[in-house]
Amino acid sequence: MPLRFDFVVLGGGVAGLSFALKAAEHGQVAVLTKRSRDECNTHYAQGGIASVLAADDTFESHIEDTLTAGAGLCHRDAVEVTVREGPAAVRELAALGADFARRRGGELELGREGGHSKRRIVHSGDITGREVERVLLSACDDQKNITFFPDTTAIDLVRDRQSSHGQGRVLGAYALTPAGKIETYLGRVTVLATGGAGKVYLYTTNPDVATGDGVAMAYRAGAPIANMEFYQFHPTCLYHPEAKSFLVSEALRGEGGKLRLRSGETFMERYHALGALAPRDVVARAIDAELKRTGDESVFLDMTHLGRTFLMERFPNIYAACKAFNVDMAVQPIPVVPAAHYMCGGVVSDLDGRTGCPGLYAIGEVACTGLHGANRLASNSLLEGLVFGARAARAGAEEAKGGAPSPGGVPDWDAGAAGDSDESVVVSHNWDELRRLMWNYVGIVRTGKRLMRARRRLDLLREEIREYYWRFKVTRDVVELRNIADVAHLVVECATRRKESRGLHCTLDYPERDDHNWLRDTVVSREP
Ligand SMILES: Cc1cc2nc3c(=O)[nH]c(=O)nc-3n(C[C@H](O)[C@H](O)[C@H](O)COP(=O)(O)OP(=O)(O)OC[C@H]3O[C@@H](n4cnc5c(N)ncnc54)[C@H](O)[C@@H]3O)c2cc1C
Repeated sequence: MPLRFDFVVLGGGVAGLSFALKAAEHGQVAVLTKRSRDECNTHYAQGGIASVLAADDTFESHIEDTLTAGAGLCHRDAVEVTVREGPAAVRELAALGADFARRRGGELELGREGGHSKRRIVHSGDITGREVERVLLSACDDQKNITFFPDTTAIDLVRDRQSSHGQGRVLGAYALTPAGKIETYLGRVTVLATGGAGKVYLYTTNPDVATGDGVAMAYRAGAPIANMEFYQFHPTCLYHPEAKSFLVSEALRGEGGKLRLRSGETFMERYHALGALAPRDVVARAIDAELKRTGDESVFLDMTHLGRTFLMERFPNIYAACKAFNVDMAVQPIPVVPAAHYMCGGVVSDLDGRTGCPGLYAIGEVACTGLHGANRLASNSLLEGLVFGARAARAGAEEAKGGAPSPGGVPDWDAGAAGDSDESVVVSHNWDELRRLMWNYVGIVRTGKRLMRARRRLDLLREEIREYYWRFKVTRDVVELRNIADVAHLVVECATRRKESRGLHCTLDYPERDDHNWLRDTVVSREP
């Protein structure tokens, strides 16, 4: 028997929880999370939330910085609503009990990050995301209308193929439960809040849940997907054989950190007037170029001139993590490399989170609202999750109230003749191969030839994965593998189409920006 709700939310990060909190005032909400309730990108966010709160700051300045980073592709309306609705969203979080850093007088302490012309980053030391997640989860726990389903992996969206009035409408999702069963979760409104897809690349700052499931599910359901070529690589991930994906925040450069080569020489001044505070894509490409030129395995982020007391107070989490890997940042520069970090593209959605599929909303990192354009400005994404979570909840509540059908007659999941796999090695092998080929051929700097190579290999891998998927019983590993393969396909497809370099998409074949032909999004939909 299907489980029925008013709102089915896939994902419990900042976007999903912001939606759930508001939607719970209008009906029953199910929140599905793939692993524990708090395991998500949000939990790992360090730097903070960008918002106009300082007396000397203005909306126009934040809007301008966002548009500049977005390299001509931001949708101005999405930027306007995010920036203008930001301060209220941040204040609301503070009112819920978020422990943001404050000055002696009680006003919020605002940090500065790359690409921002003012201090406007609200933070909780260097564990802002953890604090945001804590506060939102605790507020959700006070709401009796919200039910959490942890360790529950949505596999595919359920679409109405029967009724004459709502054909094509998304009715919910099939999901794999902790007991290994596949249940049907139905809602008047279904929300993708599944976050990013860093695991598509070999090196990433993202946790294991970030396999692009929402984008892949929406693509398979026929929703338009846009701008997947714009994958942001964070320039500074801790380089250590045992550090899986530890990010060294942008805020370190904001506070005066210097990027150096092994020789001690600084190099960012050769790449950008803002030096180490240049936008992320510039810094990531500069490091990539220097690593290729010198043959070194990492560059170094030097904080030693700032003193131990300051570092321990301002960056306690990073200080401790480095220490755990035997790097004492007070006396030695931190070895760093770039890693896949943020998906600027995603499921095309409007200012209320509506997608191209009726009944389906997308919010947070999974969505492409037009806020980020060709490159995201640091700390704009937690903000986007807050603002769009609330906006989608308002629109979704209206839709649910306005007679969105309560779905019925949905077929249960059909496992067909699928049996237990006796070849799990196929999954682990393809997982490694796919992520490595994305790193090598579709990484920070691309060429047409590399993209073609990637496409050929991906076509084979996707075929093999499809076959495996239908033959064997569904497991989370297989679901994730199928999804990273679909997302990889979308990145390659978008990157191949864009014949210019802009923002995060850099190809040696077309090194210049071409506003005449390419001042537009790259939109891909599955052929029917
Ligand atoms: C290390 C790091 C540092 C960052 N620092 C900052 C920062 O300082 N400021 C900033 O603005 N941004 C930062 N970001 C980016 C920001 O954290 C994310 O973009 C944002 O948190 C995304 O929120 P979200 O709600 O969209 O997704 P997430 O927080 O990633 O949540 C996704 C949710 O979806 C669930 N999910 C996924 N697939 C499925 C499925 N198939 N079925 C069920 N559930 C599923 C997951 O379990 C999870 O609950 C950082 C990111 C990282 C990784």
